[in-house]
Amino acid sequence: MTVRRRLRLAILGATGSIGSSTLDVVARHPDRFEVVALSAQRQAEALAELCARFRPRWAVIGAAQAPALQAALAQRGVTGVEVLAGPAALPVVAAAPEVDAVMAAIVGAAGLAPCLAAARAGKRLLLANKEALVVGGEVFLRAVREGGATLLPIDSEHSAVFQALPEDPATWPERVDKIVLTASGGPFRTRDPATFAEVTPEQACAHPNWVMGRKISVDSATMMNKALEVIEARYLFGLEPQRIDVVVHPQSVVHSMVQYRDGSVVAQLGTPDMRVPIAYGLSWPERIASGAAPLDFTRLGALTFEAPDAARFPGLGLAWEALHAPSGTTAVLNAANEVAVAAFLDGRLRFDRIHAVNRATLESFVPPPPAGLEDLLAIDAEARAVAARWVGHYGR
Ligand code: NAD
Ligand code: MG
Repeated sequence: MTVRRRLRLAILGATGSIGSSTLDVVARHPDRFEVVALSAQRQAEALAELCARFRPRWAVIGAAQAPALQAALAQRGVTGVEVLAGPAALPVVAAAPEVDAVMAAIVGAAGLAPCLAAARAGKRLLLANKEALVVGGEVFLRAVREGGATLLPIDSEHSAVFQALPEDPATWPERVDKIVLTASGGPFRTRDPATFAEVTPEQACAHPNWVMGRKISVDSATMMNKALEVIEARYLFGLEPQRIDVVVHPQSVVHSMVQYRDGSVVAQLGTPDMRVPIAYGLSWPERIASGAAPLDFTRLGALTFEAPDAARFPGLGLAWEALHAPSGTTAVLNAANEVAVAAFLDGRLRFDRIHAVNRATLESFVPPPPAGLEDLLAIDAEARAVAARWVGHYGR
């Protein structure tokens, strides 16, 4: 009988939507997984609750919340959990020898440093945090190569593509013609664009098929999420940008597809439940139960596909523009979008002006080529400053 050692997990962004789904899958397989570290930015009570349940060795939280977390743990009688505070602790736990795999489920560029640390330390890196790869680009990929890490996509589209591709990446360029990413079209696929100026954060966050964090929900409403995913696909799969297509598929059942040289198309299907790609990343190359309901073809009804409407979703095209621009430009686009979305959620920027801020920032800042994390953080900071000025210009 072989005894399998449990996979020791650090779950960064544990209190978020992906974090919760990850812990749901993990809890179904206590024989396979052990939670070593959990992180959250602000939610001390929620993180303490998770610590009581999963008993990690480390809990990482934003500096201001550390006393609240200590108190919440004490109140629950939880001992043996070491509290680490502030952003510098994230790369430390991500690279710790006690950790085999890191679930990167922080939102935004804030997740870049722990991703790079996990990559350099040769971890199994489960990447939900697409912004980290969009910002990190070639620097991120080099860290994965040099560290001997295993980078596995968690984004449903990229998990689908990964599942539809041949095992050996060396064969991809010669066999694959195109990657086709599906997009739901978000909550405003059919809303009159003349009313986009009045869109509220609540409307933008009400996604028809997925329950997600607020930032990615707004990105889905503008289709900037798909733009980030095109960039993510380019870096993950190494195909030229012109070989990545997007098709709108409102039912979110076909999660993406690979079109081969001979015209054959391989798609991955499933119910829209993030536990499926999460379970695949956790268990790859094996398969484990995820808790997701199986697809019932007799009740599916029609699956439809349409071209994305460029006038309705002008942000989508920025992906290819940024990929054809000097390296570092994808980091500028991401920073602009983070600033614009935060301003929109804050009531300082109209929904239809998110794109204006993104475009103006891209056009007014050409980044120097980034060689490492420091350079990337500098580009990110400078692009945020430029974008903040454009928010001032376009804001209310
Ligand atoms: P969320 O807002 O629900 O959760 C974000 C998590 O990150 C929380 O635990 C929060 O405490 C933590 N966090 C936020 N800001 C932080 C900071 N500055 N430093 C450290 N931690 C911070 O977000 P989510 O929907 O779970 O998305 C997480 C990532 O996964 C995003 O990059 C998103 O694009 C990606 N993703 C999400 C989904 C989904 O269905 N939710 C699907 C695909 C990809
Ligand atoms: Mg996705």
